[in-house]
Amino acid sequence: MNLATSLSEVKGVGDKTFALLQSAGLDSVGKLIEFLPRKYEDFSKVTPIAEIKPGKATIKAKVTSVNVRQLGWRSSLTTAVLDDGTGRINAVWFNQAYRARQFSHEEFYFSGLFEMRYGRFQLTSPSAEKVKELPVQTGRILPVYMAKKGLKPAVTRKILDELRPFITMLPEFLPAELIKKFQLLPYADALLKIHFPESLQEFETARERLAFNEVFELILAAKLNKQENQKLSGFKIEFNQPKIKEFVAGLPFKMTTAQRRAVWEVVQDFEKAVPMNRLLQGDVGAGKTVVAAAAAYQAHLAGFQVAFAAPTAILAAQHAKTLDQLLSPLGVQVALLTGGSSKPKQETLRRLARGEVNVVVGTHALFEDSVKFKNLGFVVVDEQHRFGVKQRNELLATSGGAMPHLLAMSATPIPRSLQLTLFGDLEISILDESPGGRQPIVTKIWRNSTRNELYALVKKELDEGRQAYVVAPTIEESTEDKTLKSVETVYKAMLKTFARWRVGILHGKMKQNEKEARMSEFKNHELDVLVSTTVIEVGVDVPNATLMMIENAERFGLAQLHQLRGRVGRGEYQSHCFLLPSDIEKIPRRLRYVEESVDGFYLAEKDLELRGPGEIYGAAQHGELDLQVANIADTKLIRTASEATDWFMKNQTLDNFRVLRERVQKLQKVTTLN
Ligand code: ADP
Ligand code: MG
Repeated sequence: MNLATSLSEVKGVGDKTFALLQSAGLDSVGKLIEFLPRKYEDFSKVTPIAEIKPGKATIKAKVTSVNVRQLGWRSSLTTAVLDDGTGRINAVWFNQAYRARQFSHEEFYFSGLFEMRYGRFQLTSPSAEKVKELPVQTGRILPVYMAKKGLKPAVTRKILDELRPFITMLPEFLPAELIKKFQLLPYADALLKIHFPESLQEFETARERLAFNEVFELILAAKLNKQENQKLSGFKIEFNQPKIKEFVAGLPFKMTTAQRRAVWEVVQDFEKAVPMNRLLQGDVGAGKTVVAAAAAYQAHLAGFQVAFAAPTAILAAQHAKTLDQLLSPLGVQVALLTGGSSKPKQETLRRLARGEVNVVVGTHALFEDSVKFKNLGFVVVDEQHRFGVKQRNELLATSGGAMPHLLAMSATPIPRSLQLTLFGDLEISILDESPGGRQPIVTKIWRNSTRNELYALVKKELDEGRQAYVVAPTIEESTEDKTLKSVETVYKAMLKTFARWRVGILHGKMKQNEKEARMSEFKNHELDVLVSTTVIEVGVDVPNATLMMIENAERFGLAQLHQLRGRVGRGEYQSHCFLLPSDIEKIPRRLRYVEESVDGFYLAEKDLELRGPGEIYGAAQHGELDLQVANIADTKLIRTASEATDWFMKNQTLDNFRVLRERVQKLQKVTTLN
């Protein structure tokens, strides 16, 4: 037996159980032994019947009589009288008639809930096992596993019990020296303590080791990715200082120091023979696009084509427009590649293949087979952190075997403590300066019961020519949840409230062209108020919009609120964001944080604090990165694991550690961004 052995070969696992295990994604020995309990129930203490109190209990007793009563078609009630010499109690099971045959005259452990039912005390549906057959389901600290796809925790326990001798013999997969140096519990010990704890304390040290594994492997994978990236060949792009200076000088605004630094970091990477793999992090409105534009211009000057990928069609259109404005006066041909198979699209594809389009903007469809470049040298990806192996290979294919330089842009501020873990394979540039001397957005939780005051304020701004967003959490009304506001309802209300103004609606169920039309109406100031779900994307840029009202604000996460808010405050005017919680008596702490600060990094730290172990900041955006055990906010753990990876990279190679290599390679697939 080894880690890859199928569980179908384990004693007691029949076809049905194996099918369940498979659908739960737990088909091999290796996978099941790392399927960790959700919690523990302490059934380890045997209580004499004479002393039993209501609650969870284990007793060790003989069965003096069993009675099965048929309650109806296929339903039965089994009652047994249990006696341990100190007293007697009843145990009761529903629809488990087989119990009548289970009991012999021997002693059994019974673990279950001792409670008052139908006017008398009983032990309800206890598990029962022979004392002499080493108990699995009774008489111990019982691990409770998630019932994934209906896989019963008792079944998981049973199989793990079969695997126990294997786990005991499991060799360590980390170097012995590393285990010693970083004082880690051996792997087998950790697993035994997790699945068969003898005390609740010992489970904690076991958890630490498994958490270490996770973080260590994650960081190692990232560092190895980086190392592999260094081996790829890329395109050397020489810095054209005069032209870039000209570009910067020609901008309608002065670049911030942070922007200049970011451009500088990019062009320096360009000059290297290895492909750039850089993340440009900056809060919403920090001005990432112009940094990318400068870089794109530089790549173009060196004779390369540039692909600029946005997460949605709306954003792609916006970027295409911005880039066209910035670059076409300099002789750069910018084109938007839309979906479908229209004639203009075919024409764009042809021009792209001939090298007549210099910068192409689109969604991820840019990297599909049908898109051919003449000489792609630089790729910008907006708002996507994870660019998997598949995309990497697509890119390599599109650019003829050499790897284009890559710049990923993200408005999700990652707490600095996490950058190493999450993005260890990337170089990072940070825009931490708000451009153009903008005034910070004033945020207020609207605590008043009346909204007239608020509406008066909004109307005044609209009269001055500004625009407003109103955000609602759902598209349609919910029958279960009366406090939940739909975008439809809010829209109707706003039509009345703002009868003098032009009000529009936008949500995810609308057709793509409708959405785009609505967004551009708002952008062109053909609408004053836009009522929307969260579909107004992160990057949407309407500097004239200075107001945002968020309905049911308590429904949104901290990061989400911050991102939403970033759609205002993008121009010269003072902006306001009003958070409207449905219950002013119950205002969650995260709303207060949003009210108190506009600093994305600060909020990211707070978000981390508010979340429990294992939950990752902005998890949805980080894709498959999923920690089972480790608390990503545990900076000490991260530091130790990081030191351990440094030690490993310096003193060892993965080739000597087959199991570790497999574990890390799996992660490398996920975290590869290059
Ligand atoms: P994000 O980082 O969210 O992508 P954008 O690139 O969309 O931000 O920039 C937001 C707005 O700020 C745009 O209208 C852009 O023209 C403007 N902008 C960018 N840099 C500066 C600057 N240094 N000074 C003034 N305005 C700027
Ligand atoms: Mg943007």
